[in-house]
Amino acid sequence: MNIRIGNGYDIHRLVSGRPLILGGVQISHELGLLGHSDADVLTHAIMDAMLGALSLGDIGHYFPPTDPKWAGADSLMLLSQVDQLIREKGWRVSNIDSVIVAERPKLKPHISAMRDRLAAVLELKPDQIGIKATTNEKLGPEGREEGICAYSVALLVAAD
Ligand code: MG
Repeated sequence: MNIRIGNGYDIHRLVSGRPLILGGVQISHELGLLGHSDADVLTHAIMDAMLGALSLGDIGHYFPPTDPKWAGADSLMLLSQVDQLIREKGWRVSNIDSVIVAERPKLKPHISAMRDRLAAVLELKPDQIGIKATTNEKLGPEGREEGICAYSVALLVAAD
């Protein structure tokens, strides 16, 4: 088969004093995501989906949170490296679909910018990157605004 599918999931804690960056877009909010890198939970889920499609492990393997090299890292730069890896293996992304679960802030106004940024890094068209946002109906950690999570699926096709 010349197609492969992978899925990714990530969650980060919401804290004060950190920027909120999702899909490479900084969003104005009183809370931001805590993490070793810029904690861009959407980009992390997308990277894990891409790696998972080729059984290449997860981002913790390539960019360990124990390595000071990745402190404050721009996740789009990490995404570019993951894309490079899958291209070297002879694959490219066909499309990605993702869901962000966040009670606040309203993400809909920012989704188009996220798709544009991710598409630019992956050298794709924005219509190859699906991003949806939903609240968690005030249920669970996302609903209590303790964190934001993201789910992603990536379909890879063999490069010709
Ligand atoms: Mg993460």
